[in-house]
Amino acid sequence: MSADSMEILRSIVHYSFHFLVPGAIAFLFFRKQWKRAWLIMISTMIVDADHLLATPIFDPGRCSIGYHPLHSYYAIACYFILLIFPKTRIIAVGLLFHMYTDWQDCHWYEILRQMKLFV
Ligand SMILES: [Zn+2]
Repeated sequence: MSADSMEILRSIVHYSFHFLVPGAIAFLFFRKQWKRAWLIMISTMIVDADHLLATPIFDPGRCSIGYHPLHSYYAIACYFILLIFPKTRIIAVGLLFHMYTDWQDCHWYEILRQMKLFV
């Protein structure tokens, strides 16, 4: 697979995981209120506001996980705690899946870098 194709696939996976897969999760696990659950999970994207604290704001080679405050391991531990309470469970699932999405994207980047697609 060419470098360009890999990069396109990385973007498709990343944005599908941020927007479409939460819909599937909502439909599978929160069936009675899946549209509301989907919207809540997509809304958890607000944690990316912590990127505004970094310089540069966007760096495709930087892994969000463990770098930005709301993507720190402490924050992720809090998101796990939110899973316990029924009222915050959908938010917690959205936040944790967001963290998973960003984490897997870091691996895509590393694989592409090791393939010498990035210098
Ligand atoms: Zn993020």
